[in-house]
Amino acid sequence: MKDHVPIIDAHCHLDSYKHIQIKPGWLPVTVGYSHFSNIKNTAIAKKYKIPYVLGIAPQTTVKEGITKLDLWINEIKKYKPNAIGEIGLDLYWAKTSENVKNEEIVFYKMLDLAEELKLPIVIHSRNAEKKVIDILYERKYTHGIMMHFFSGTLKQAEKVIDLGAFISISPLHSKERRKIINSVALENLLVETDSPYIVRTFYEVERTIEYIAETKKLDKNIVAECTAKNAIRFFDI
Ligand SMILES: [Zn+2]
Repeated sequence: MKDHVPIIDAHCHLDSYKHIQIKPGWLPVTVGYSHFSNIKNTAIAKKYKIPYVLGIAPQTTVKEGITKLDLWINEIKKYKPNAIGEIGLDLYWAKTSENVKNEEIVFYKMLDLAEELKLPIVIHSRNAEKKVIDILYERKYTHGIMMHFFSGTLKQAEKVIDLGAFISISPLHSKERRKIINSVALENLLVETDSPYIVRTFYEVERTIEYIAETKKLDKNIVAECTAKNAIRFFDI
């Protein structure tokens, strides 16, 4: 790999790691999903001097409710993250109409917050791609969008790219993901691990890079460098 640009994992959760060791030349972007995880990730990011993303994820609102939302938002403002995330809708975890309503309230509040701070957003969407994309269109979000672990269709990918979004590729192989990798330009892609949940560590972002390189028949180094430059621009690193 080239030595002047680090290898960047655009989405992982270092607060859930047992041990953190970041070798020179590697740069993980650590992401919060709840108030507690936002506090932990901010401390980790300051210690290791890495970019960090803070937000209240939809799954969190299902578990914790929304009564403390204003407090959580004030804390995020204090911590000055590189982006707001992961935020969005998760209809896999939402079991009741109340859950869905709370997820929507929080998503809109997170979009307001990102707008106010003029920060890019990192989107989590599970079984809710159409609704999330509709909301992004309705809001005409212009400060940057990353579709984390994108699991929608190629058509939906093209639609969000028209809004200026980046499609973030996970190391998990699927037929639709392969189609997306094939047809979307490298300039619109980011690479991630979502570790330690999907794979164990951010070093395995190399698997995502190899997945793209093989699919697009490109050199690994070119994929690593281009996606790293995309991440540097997106997160203003
Ligand atoms: Zn995640």
